[in-house]
Amino acid sequence: MQVTSNQFRQKAHDNLNDPTLQRALKLVKVKFVPNRAAAVAEFGAFEPLREAGKEIRNRALADLDVYLERFEQEATARGAVVHWAEDAQDACRIVTGIARNNGVKKIVKSKSMVSEEVGLNDALEAAGLEVVETDLGEYILQLAQEAPSHIVAPVIHKVRDQISELFAEKHHAPRKTDIGALCREAREVLRPHFLGADMGISGANFIVAETGSTCIVTNEGNGRMVTTLPRIHVAITGIEKVVPTLEDLSVLLRLLPRSATGQTITNYVSVNTGVRGGADTDGPEQFHVVLVDNGRSRLLAGELKDMLRCIRCSACMNHCPVYQAVGGHTYGWVYPGPMGSILTPSFVGLENAVDLPNAATLCNQCGVVCPVKIPLPDLMRKLRERQMETGLKPWSERAALRLWGWLARHPRLYALGTAAGARFLKLLGGREGLIHRLPPAAGWTGGRDFPAPPGKTFRELYQKEN
Ligand code: SF4
Repeated sequence: MQVTSNQFRQKAHDNLNDPTLQRALKLVKVKFVPNRAAAVAEFGAFEPLREAGKEIRNRALADLDVYLERFEQEATARGAVVHWAEDAQDACRIVTGIARNNGVKKIVKSKSMVSEEVGLNDALEAAGLEVVETDLGEYILQLAQEAPSHIVAPVIHKVRDQISELFAEKHHAPRKTDIGALCREAREVLRPHFLGADMGISGANFIVAETGSTCIVTNEGNGRMVTTLPRIHVAITGIEKVVPTLEDLSVLLRLLPRSATGQTITNYVSVNTGVRGGADTDGPEQFHVVLVDNGRSRLLAGELKDMLRCIRCSACMNHCPVYQAVGGHTYGWVYPGPMGSILTPSFVGLENAVDLPNAATLCNQCGVVCPVKIPLPDLMRKLRERQMETGLKPWSERAALRLWGWLARHPRLYALGTAAGARFLKLLGGREGLIHRLPPAAGWTGGRDFPAPPGKTFRELYQKEN
């Protein structure tokens, strides 16, 4: 997937002025946010659960090599083949190789953000294979030739009318507007693909070291069909997804759906272990697990390692005022919202995603709702510091911050400077008390008036009151 994160500002501007997108994005605020709040309230002791989730993820990451080797051992003992992919090219080469070696022609896929990350569909199609996305949202995106804009609800940027038109055009069928009818139509188109596919590709929300299992959490039955109907199942996932035991998994399964969609549990939780056994009525003859690094080891060794705790629940983006306003495509790569503002620069290079660590108000809504307590604003701040150090920020911003830093170390001068500034801004606000234009903060005043301060600094007001 092409990285367009450096177009953040332009895309944000366009998307803020797109009424259809704004209508579609309302769902985030009216559904995901209140649903999570209700699920958390209903659970009761959610904070200890978050703490337990954090501890499990930290434990897994602290001994990642040990748990991954245990996973490989257990999965292999049950007939699976574990592959290690160092980067995106490696991952694509491995999956394409499995398909080629087995004479595969048609592949059905369930949703996998890692497959988006490594550009798997393009690689498979370039190798002459037919790939059909079967998650409803991903299927719509495949028809529309678009990328996901949300990690849980990939097609959240579209409204019903757009999907209705798309189906009529691509399915050559009468236009339907009823959601049930649209789903039925997609089901009828997809069913023969499930039955005719030689290979199913899924992601994995978690992999379990003690049993060598992969786990998929989903609300659509396509995940089960992808993993059990074709003769070959390939699960592709990041190395950080490992958890030590099934008991640990059970804790994370309490956190994930509540944080994502506000559900107590999703419609399907599938734990896939090994290949089809003698007594099994279904299941694949071959089970391959592709463990993708693609920059994760580097992340683990650095100051952003907390980010690897992420369980891809989407709560941070659902609660982010920036994501709510501009939508996921604005972020220009696979992972949007606050988690994407850290993952994207980490995976594709800070110079290719300069605006992302700054695409946040640092209000900490993301940090408050993250089920594994990732300090997202702190990590964004670290990336901002790196931008300062490596000269990725404009010289004017660096000079202004240096001046501010110098003043902050000289309290008397700081008090003088801020007092002058407060008086000047009051003057600028005039009788109305509103600043319409302020060139150094044009981004702020471009869309709204800035209330003028009362002409005194906070310290002056505080001293007066006390
Ligand atoms: S960073 Fe936290 S809130 Fe965001 S997707 Fe990951 S686990 Fe969920």
